[in-house]
Amino acid sequence: MSLLLVLAPIASSQPTDSLQIAYIATAKQILTYGLSDGKAYPMLREFCTTIGNRLSGSVGDARGIDWLKKKMEQYNFENVRLEPVTVPKWVRGTTETAFIVDRNGKKIRSLRVASLGMSIPTPTKGVTAEILEVITFKQLDSLGPLVKGKIVFFNRAFDRTIFNTFPGYGATVDQRSSGAARAAAYGAVAVLVRSVTPVIDDHPHTGTVNYTDSLQKIPAAAVSTRDAEVLSEMLKSEKAVRIRLTMNCHTFPDAASANVIGELRGSERPNEIILIGGHHDSWDKGQGAHDDGAGCIHVIEAIRILKELNIRPRRTIRAVMFANEENGLRGGKAYAAVERPNEIHLAAIESDVGGFAPTGFTVQGTKDQLNRIAPWSYLFTPMEADRITNGGSGADISPLVDKGVLTIGLRERTERYFEYHHAETDVIGGVNERELQLGACALAIMAWILAEEGI
Ligand SMILES: [Zn+2]
Repeated sequence: MSLLLVLAPIASSQPTDSLQIAYIATAKQILTYGLSDGKAYPMLREFCTTIGNRLSGSVGDARGIDWLKKKMEQYNFENVRLEPVTVPKWVRGTTETAFIVDRNGKKIRSLRVASLGMSIPTPTKGVTAEILEVITFKQLDSLGPLVKGKIVFFNRAFDRTIFNTFPGYGATVDQRSSGAARAAAYGAVAVLVRSVTPVIDDHPHTGTVNYTDSLQKIPAAAVSTRDAEVLSEMLKSEKAVRIRLTMNCHTFPDAASANVIGELRGSERPNEIILIGGHHDSWDKGQGAHDDGAGCIHVIEAIRILKELNIRPRRTIRAVMFANEENGLRGGKAYAAVERPNEIHLAAIESDVGGFAPTGFTVQGTKDQLNRIAPWSYLFTPMEADRITNGGSGADISPLVDKGVLTIGLRERTERYFEYHHAETDVIGGVNERELQLGACALAIMAWILAEEGI
């Protein structure tokens, strides 16, 4: 690139009226401060390395809640508190193995597997059966009686041709979430599900399996994409491939958890709330760094920056770190269920797409609401996070939609998210300091302008 190109101003239709000029100055101040004195990365590193993963009802869950509360107190957030939530408690077993076995039960090869969250265990000696590869539910339906007594191997690959990986995930995840119920309807004895990730790797990616009450519950495990490819190849040449799956995971009675809340109170209309949130629980693999430690840290860092710069908007910005998004959404539901007669939620923004470079926001609202927010894109242009479009927001804030709250999702680059998602690789080492910080800055600016302007 020539020097001339570097120095040339970027052509844009920058607003010129005095209020907008003041807004640009504040947004610039937030970005400059964030990039020079940001604490997002050291905070997330501490959260990941001292607390680790935080599956609902676990010791890590309780410690994570305590850590987040103390962090907000340390930065002088207002009204720091916990709201109790009762959560499911599922614990991964000490045993989770799968072997390809011969007709006599002799082990031929091991497979990298992980129990799906909420799965029932196998009997102690495991489940041994022939596997049946299935790509679509339609194919499963057509196989009908052939499914009985088999381990169904759901092997639909992640569609890598879709640019944004989230719709790609959405097109594949049903085999993980409802494959076990669909296969059980035909008498399958267990399911092995190809990990829902666009990469070929050696890490099983877990996630929730949902059972249907009226149907038999059968054990469900994720298999790494590389081993899924191996199995599929074997099935092309072998008449029958038999697997022994052994897991001793366990579901305990519900446990106590909490939503973690803190605020930057508004100067003029403190009872009007702009909520910014993420979820503090994570899967029990890795450290829950991108999912969703990054979201929690975005939220804390956004308010910390505003406080540090003495920017106190007219309305209240409330940080909510929700419990149990992963295997129940109990935190989001509990928050929305609480009657709050003296306050009104104007908008809720969720960060739950990792700690990657922000690209903008999706607004899950009316055309008028989008038309109100989209013109603020100029505030995000300096960090190239100015794509404000219609779209989904976030799971934790979805119960607020029914209460008429406008919900918004922070959006980021999506290339790498599902490489780490729900796998042991979701650790701090996979997070880039600057990308994480930019997400916090984008969230701070959106929360601030909403709290200043209202909706
Ligand atoms: Zn998440």
